[in-house]
Amino acid sequence: MQIETLAVHAGRQVDPTTGAIATSIQLSTTFERATDGSYPQGYIYTRMGNPNRTALEQCLAALEGGAGSAAFASGSAATMSIFQALAPGDHVIAPQDAYTGTTTLLKTMFVPWGLSVTFVDMTDPTQVQQALQPNTRLIWTETPSNPMLKVTDICKVADLAHQAGAVCVCDNTWATPILQQPFQQGADLVIHSTTKYLSGHSDMLGGAVIAQANSDFFAKIRQIQTAGGAVAAPFDCWLTLRGIQTLPWRMQAHSHHAMQIARFLSQHPKIEAVHYPGLEMHSGHAIATQQMRNFGGMLSFQVKGGKQQAFAVLAKLRLITRATSLGGVESLIEHRASIEGADTRTPENLLRLSVGLENVNDLIEDLEQAIAS
Ligand SMILES: *Cc1c(COP(=O)(O)O)cnc(C)c1O
Repeated sequence: MQIETLAVHAGRQVDPTTGAIATSIQLSTTFERATDGSYPQGYIYTRMGNPNRTALEQCLAALEGGAGSAAFASGSAATMSIFQALAPGDHVIAPQDAYTGTTTLLKTMFVPWGLSVTFVDMTDPTQVQQALQPNTRLIWTETPSNPMLKVTDICKVADLAHQAGAVCVCDNTWATPILQQPFQQGADLVIHSTTKYLSGHSDMLGGAVIAQANSDFFAKIRQIQTAGGAVAAPFDCWLTLRGIQTLPWRMQAHSHHAMQIARFLSQHPKIEAVHYPGLEMHSGHAIATQQMRNFGGMLSFQVKGGKQQAFAVLAKLRLITRATSLGGVESLIEHRASIEGADTRTPENLLRLSVGLENVNDLIEDLEQAIAS
């Protein structure tokens, strides 16, 4: 089955007891045992498993082409579970340009806990190779990356990981399985912040880990999920599954709009640089063309002048909302360096734009008046 069909049907069925087409929400925390002590439906207690979570996990595994999935209360909880599945003394290679929360988790929680981390330019496989150590157990990739839209060659990094006996993880939040399926390039695990495109409406927080195969490493992640309890709530699973039904078509429109805005900005005299893998001039364009079906709805750009000029553009926007996060139907813009803190590598004149589903001409008009004045 093609991915548009999976998005509508995977994990769903007509309710056998009522005939309902829409999935119902199962809020019960506990499930009845049979007289012999067994659990006839397979459910015991909602931290261990819940019908809405099962439905979402089945759908996510189907979309990514994986063997299984574990849904969490946030993308960050999903990230945590992967590092927690390692052991103190293990070494991780992570990208310099990545979601700042992932970097912060590594530095502030997992280095004190006993992991060692080398941050590299993940777009350069030579740097990855040079960072390998005998105890390297995991290589983290995020492509396209936040906020510089750097493109990592998943195939090359996964090969290096496997030669070293390490696991290759891909944060696929920005591309979604509609535009990129990292398992086809050799990744072992995919993580998502389902808060973003998958749910798609800026109204829930969630995350997931999807495994290419049922490994011991994934069994450990599953154990961290069910024993640790940072699980996705039934209603959040329901909202995500609902959002996923329109994901393939939303991603087409997000990509289409972002491409037009990237072209507009790249021709504007007051814009210094535009970072969008769909542009031929982008350093990762060739690899993105190979490993992605389209280039997505995220882009960033640098305003000529500096921080002050970037803030002036932000202040004049009328339609595009100044807010963090991404992947919703509404366009959001953010000065990333401010939120990333003191040791950020993000340029001070950079603005990150999550291109929404409004009419693209309205979006361009808003940017035009804000940049021009
Ligand atoms: C938002 C985001 C996360 C973190 O997810 P939360 O749901 O906010 O915890 C991780 N990776 C990427 C790429 C993100 O955009």
